[in-house]
Amino acid sequence: MVTAALRMFMELGMVQKFRIDYETLCRWLLTVRKNYRMVLYHNWRHAFNVCQCMFAMLTTAGFQDTLTEVEILALIVGCVCHDLDHRGTNNAFQAKTGSALSLLYGTSATLEHHHFNHAVMILQSEGHNIFSNLSSREYSDLMQLLKQSILATDLTLYFENRNTFFELVNNGEYNWNVKAHRDMCRSMLMTACDLGAVTKPWEISRKVAELVTNEFFEQGDRERSELKLTPSAIFDRNRKDELPGLQMEWIDGICSPLYETLVKLNPKLQPMLDTIQINRSKWEELNNERQCAPPSEAPPPPQAPPHCSGENAAPCSPPLVDTGTAPCCGAATHMAAGPSRPAS
Ligand SMILES: [Zn+2]
Repeated sequence: MVTAALRMFMELGMVQKFRIDYETLCRWLLTVRKNYRMVLYHNWRHAFNVCQCMFAMLTTAGFQDTLTEVEILALIVGCVCHDLDHRGTNNAFQAKTGSALSLLYGTSATLEHHHFNHAVMILQSEGHNIFSNLSSREYSDLMQLLKQSILATDLTLYFENRNTFFELVNNGEYNWNVKAHRDMCRSMLMTACDLGAVTKPWEISRKVAELVTNEFFEQGDRERSELKLTPSAIFDRNRKDELPGLQMEWIDGICSPLYETLVKLNPKLQPMLDTIQINRSKWEELNNERQCAPPSEAPPPPQAPPHCSGENAAPCSPPLVDTGTAPCCGAATHMAAGPSRPAS
């Protein structure tokens, strides 16, 4: 994955344009990888996948031709660094536990501030400054854009901004020459990549949903044992059978509106939306099967009702879905601040 990440920097022309020292870039990438923890989901593999998704969107969908080179560098570095030192618990958990991170950064975008500061710390470590050949103007612009990119992965910010962005695009008023519009669009691209697992082929998408869910369950276990709270559905392993319904809510409420809008802005992104729709139908099938399944201790019915099978299966009863917090990738994280681990 480190080699593939290197290749992405090369193919985007970043190494050449910003005269990034190749050995420094290798060292920086290895250190970034080392500064992701061995949590189930928010680990180096997730960071790499988000970066790869951005690479595909920039190149295949042609954003590469619209965005400036500094913007592209900020996005790609932002993706690689956006969950640095994630501990597998979310912002709400930081607030509820009064963690060191929430005391340090406050309760707004707690983790995202930490991820950005951690990224800066690595860049400032000896032999890690991949930006050393940028002009002072470029460097200053880049750091501002990098901070924006990483903070944008807080889903709270996404919800604050998305309606304005959706309206601009839907009304045909989006304008690449307006700085505020570009800022919003880059933030939406970061979210689209962070949630990109939902756009992957079914087997991958399902596997990733299970990884996220298992990380959430570990947080839920701690909420139960340490905080004496009953976790909400997505964090409660006793309600794991609700996953298909929760995934449908996640797709309908959070993911689809974003990708639909991005497709309006750039039709080349249509394949992402198509795959989301396929995945949603798979979750729906699983949800219907679950609702049609007999209770485990009861004898099976002689025959499943006809509407519980086949392509047009409908639920046997109202879906048992949670209406609380949706699973989120960008909004999840930590507990105690651990030691920094730059350089290797
Ligand atoms: Zn993430």
